[in-house]
Parts: sequence; structure tokens; C-alpha cells
Amino acid sequence: MTPFRVIARSHDPPIARSLDFDAGQTCDLTIRSPQYQDEKGSSRTFLIASPPAEAPRVMVATRLTGSAFKRSLPEAPVGYEIELEGPSGSFVRHRNTAKPAVFFAGGIGITPFRSIVGDATLRRLPHRMTLFYSNRTPASTAFLPDLEAWRRQNGNFRLIATIADPSTGQPWSHDVGPIDAAFITSHLPELSDAICYLAGPPAFVKGMRAALDEAGADPDNLRTEKFDGY
Ligand SMILES: Cc1cc2nc3c(=O)[nH]c(=O)nc-3n(C[C@H](O)[C@H](O)[C@H](O)COP(=O)(O)OP(=O)(O)OC[C@H]3O[C@@H](n4cnc5c(N)ncnc54)[C@H](O)[C@@H]3O)c2cc1C
Repeated sequence: MTPFRVIARSHDPPIARSLDFDAGQTCDLTIRSPQYQDEKGSSRTFLIASPPAEAPRVMVATRLTGSAFKRSLPEAPVGYEIELEGPSGSFVRHRNTAKPAVFFAGGIGITPFRSIVGDATLRRLPHRMTLFYSNRTPASTAFLPDLEAWRRQNGNFRLIATIADPSTGQPWSHDVGPIDAAFITSHLPELSDAICYLAGPPAFVKGMRAALDEAGADPDNLRTEKFDGY
């Protein structure tokens, strides 16, 4: 795989001739001349949220927390330059199609799974995939329409989305409640063969590890990507 290091201009069409990566990999974004600065610097790691087939366009997605980095990005004018470096990481789907993949996303932890599920659907891969996706409210559930569309197109993909707070009045047709051991086994009674992928803020990943342990998942089959910084 050829490493890439490109300078991209916001809103430009193709940002490089070739951006070669596997679904589930990360890139590092550096704002070269940020409008705002703090001691945490002007670089962040992001999992790529788009499938490789969309390259040379790549999508990253993030929660705007108010940090200098995240104030600089959305306020940047058209033509603003950023540096994109990668790909890195091995949080990629396993190859053995006999073993199902079970994904656990907390909030913005959905990014790698959007790439992986989109990739598998576009390429009609035979992998069986189940996505548990947890958010606080319907409005904070990013990419839900894409995931619902892929569920309709891909008979190998199951979507189990859940929210903690159903009282907002926003429309919601999926599950409600936390992802705990009982919730997992009610949807997937047999986990011993599954390869489980956990992504999101460190507290979410820790909670899912405990729930999966209780639900009987094989600890050797867990793969995690913690979004340090949340
Ligand atoms: C493998 C991986 C994949 C990730 N993927 C995503 C993704 O797809 N989407 C997403 O939104 N986020 C992702 N993150 C998290 C992302 O890199 C940021 O950490 C997060 O978005 C918070 O950034 P912030 O600017 O909001 O917070 P801030 O608190 O301003 O920044 C957090 C970052 O600053 C660093 N930092 C904290 N204190 C200091 C200090 N005193 N000096 C120097 N550095 C400091 C931390 O290590 C962290 O990287 C990922 C992280 C990792 C490790």
C-alpha cells in the first residue's frame, strides 16, 4: 500500500490522484495555518469514514468540541489548506468469511464502520456483519440514513441502533436503552465465533469490553479503536 501525504484544499474536487487505503484505516489531518491555536496542537487522527472506492475523495467525521483545531476547521474559507497523511492502522475487517463480524460503535465511533460496511456493500462481499450503534438521541445518530440504505441493499448486514434518551420527540424507529450483556445476547445469542470490533470514546470501549465478557465473547476475538481525546 502506497503511503499518502497530500495537501488538500477544502471544497476542491479530487484532492490527489491516488489515495490507497483499506476500510477501517486512519489518517492524520494537520491544519497548516490554523486560525485558532492551543497547546494541543493542530493535528488530529481520524478514522476514514468513506469507503475506499470513493477515493480520491475521503471523508472524515468528528464532533465539534470547541477545541482550537475544531474551531479552525469549520470556519476555514474555501481553498483552505490541510495536510492529510496516512494510511495507518490495522482496524480492518478480517478475511475469513466463515466468522461473522460484530461491530460496536459509540457515537462518533461509527466512522470506521461506515467505511467498512459501505465497502462490503459496494463490493458485494459475502461477510456477515452486525452493527450495534449507540447514541444519546436520534439527532446525534450520525449516518443513520446511509446505514439503513445499506441494510436494505445488503442481506448480510444487520443494523441494531439504540438511543439512551427517547424523550426528545425526534422520530425514532429503532431500539432504546443501553448496550449491555442482556441487550447483546437478545439480538445475538451466539457470540463465541464472532470477531468483535469496538470503536468510540475510551469509556464506551471499556463498557463494551465488560458487556462482551459477560455475554460470552472470546476475549481473543476483540479488536478495539479508542478515540483518545474524548
Ligand atoms: C485511532 C484514532 C482514531 C480516531 N478517529 C476519530 C474519528 O474518526 N472521529 C473523531 O471525531 N475523532 C477521532 N479520534 C479522536 C481525535 O483524534 C481527537 O482526539 C478527538 O476528536 C478530540 O479532539 P478535540 O480537538 O475535540 O479535543 P482536544 O482535547 O482539544 O484534543 C485532544 C487531542 O489532543 C491531545 N492532547 C491533549 N492534551 C494535550 C497537551 N497538553 N499537549 C499536546 N496534546 C494534547 C490528545 O492526545 C488528543 O489527541 C481518533 C483518535 C484515534 C487515536
